[in-house]
Amino acid sequence: TKNNVDIGSIFGLDVGGTLSKLVYFEKSSPHSNSHTSPFLDSRRRQNSDIPTFPTSPQTSPKNPPSEPRSKDTSNLPPPSPTHNHPLKRINSLNSLHRHSHRAALDEFYKFANEHNTFGQSGIKEPHLSFQSRSLGGSFHFIHFETRHMPSAIDLISENGLAQNIKNMGCTGGGAHKYSEMWRSRVNINMIKQAEMASLVAGIEFVLKSLVGECFTFKPQRSPVTSSSSSPRKITEEEWSRKVQRDSIRDRTTYPYIVVSIGTGVSFIRVDGPGPSQFERVTGSTIGGGTYWGLCRLLTDCETFSDVLQLAEMGDSGKVDMLVKDIYGTNPEALRKLKLPGNIVASSFGKLATKNNPSDGIDQKDLARAILMMTTNNIAHIAYLTARLYKTSRIYFIGNFLRHNNVSCQRLSYSIDYWSNGTVEGLFLEHEGYLGALGAFLLGQE
Ligand code: ADP
Repeated sequence: TKNNVDIGSIFGLDVGGTLSKLVYFEKSSPHSNSHTSPFLDSRRRQNSDIPTFPTSPQTSPKNPPSEPRSKDTSNLPPPSPTHNHPLKRINSLNSLHRHSHRAALDEFYKFANEHNTFGQSGIKEPHLSFQSRSLGGSFHFIHFETRHMPSAIDLISENGLAQNIKNMGCTGGGAHKYSEMWRSRVNINMIKQAEMASLVAGIEFVLKSLVGECFTFKPQRSPVTSSSSSPRKITEEEWSRKVQRDSIRDRTTYPYIVVSIGTGVSFIRVDGPGPSQFERVTGSTIGGGTYWGLCRLLTDCETFSDVLQLAEMGDSGKVDMLVKDIYGTNPEALRKLKLPGNIVASSFGKLATKNNPSDGIDQKDLARAILMMTTNNIAHIAYLTARLYKTSRIYFIGNFLRHNNVSCQRLSYSIDYWSNGTVEGLFLEHEGYLGALGAFLLGQE
């Protein structure tokens, strides 16, 4: 098995400014230790067997099923030919595997499947693994900090994990920066894919192949009519019910907008299922890197998850200037303004008016205010972009949203609020891995 034969690419790597995301594809075999998954190949939909997904993005299923859910699919129809997608090319990967160099691959799978953490910052997310019946294998997801790239390559090299693996689909800025390092240390050639094309390929794949992938937030209760016959105002606090959005209409209408919130933010309009039917229409420099960078400056938190937890407890109202801070609470004045009094007029604006800006303010309030400032800005550009291109769907993705319910709910609430319920903010369970997944799929050519 160690005869140095190329066994094809099993990796998709997305090297971002902050995080690197690695997808590995595990071809099904009697020996493979396949993970179970809450997701289903979409053709199971026809058996109306739509699984429920955990109610919050940060929790994995409490009792994962003991059997892979995509079993017993022999009587289902063949894959739909309706879309022009890299999925078709995966057949070449299958044939490479068929002439099996299985043992070399199994060494990698055994190592990767047995661990949930790797090196200094590597984390596998088993609750995101899924089996794809159409591709005949399962996908697994790992991320690590990009600054640890040299030790990630060392880990692969020292454990002899790259034997016979010659190519790797790769995207993100670091695909260029680290290309030579991968080649010289582990003899893996990066098949570079354009960043936006990879993202869109990944999104199209999960939207069309997976049930349980897409969700949004809705109010806990539906609006009821009050005695004065005006609809009861839904508050943001009530906007917290996670609901699945897997309808056929949602997956087949174009255009839609993708808002990729990584270190910076990209706004992409997707016009159709084809490989180049999209355009990056704008961007914002105020993104996840801004949030995390400012929090590192203004709080003592050492990790991204610590600062998110801190922000959850904070009160941004101590820092932000609200409309009512300027206008007072006179209902007549607010009615003329057509804005509610408790909406933010100026992020951090309250600090400009105080004698001592830090009086009565904790790190948690600052963390919350930075989070809300970043999120509100993105929500507004997203809403205007959706209006400009006359679409009712906005998908928010990127690792800024990882375990970040506060921002997801705010995005969902404010898109609904500003659009009067005509535009919906949507989220994907594999939010941070779509570029890596797309780079893998495009790399199968
Ligand atoms: P990029 O490809 O630009 O690195 P990502 O989609 O991976 O973008 O998102 C990076 C952002 O995700 C960071 O700026 C930060 O806001 C957030 N983030 C989530 N988890 C982490 C983490 N463990 N370490 C640092 N940032 C994280």
